[in-house]
Amino acid sequence: KKSSLSEVKVAVVGAPSVGKSALTVRFLTKRYIGEYDHQQESKYKHEALLDGEPILFEILDTCPKGLNELPGNEVAQWADGLFLVYSITDRESFNYVRRAKQSLQPEVPLTLVGNKADMVHLRQVSLEEGEILAKDFECNFAEVAAAEQVNQVGEVFHELCREVLSHRRRA
Ligand code: GDP
Ligand code: MG
Repeated sequence: KKSSLSEVKVAVVGAPSVGKSALTVRFLTKRYIGEYDHQQESKYKHEALLDGEPILFEILDTCPKGLNELPGNEVAQWADGLFLVYSITDRESFNYVRRAKQSLQPEVPLTLVGNKADMVHLRQVSLEEGEILAKDFECNFAEVAAAEQVNQVGEVFHELCREVLSHRRRA
């Protein structure tokens, strides 16, 4: 029998330009390159150890063309876990996350992520608002900066993965 590799499918959802690709690439490569393809959705496979266990991550970096394009149901059906990403510098992106959650009605573990936490001088969404929304969604929450924090972004992915695995074990 082949060694059983746990597969965890994660979709990264959020408004344009919040840093979905930056977070994804940061997790995959530990790097921040600054400019990412704005045109298309990408799917990646990535093997990593989580708490000593080999995991095959599949990551769907979604790519809505505008604030009115919400992720489709196929995303919620496909994913074992979802990142709902907004930018702390963009109030509209915070509203987008709310609408995306409502339209997806996901039954999988979620993590609310407030990205661009390095841009405090341009902050439009307070830490507390993020915390309140996460409480409403009954999900984990973190403010992060794909641009600056290597380990923190990895930890956010790992924590969602742990939740997916324990959700799966309970199912
Ligand atoms: P996406 O459309 O959600 O995939 O967003 P991108 O990943 O393409 O990022 C959009 C822009 O925001 C790019 O210019 C990134 O360099 C920038 N960006 C992404 N994450 C951060 C961050 O944590 N801090 C700052 N200052 N800029 C970021
Ligand atoms: Mg992108």
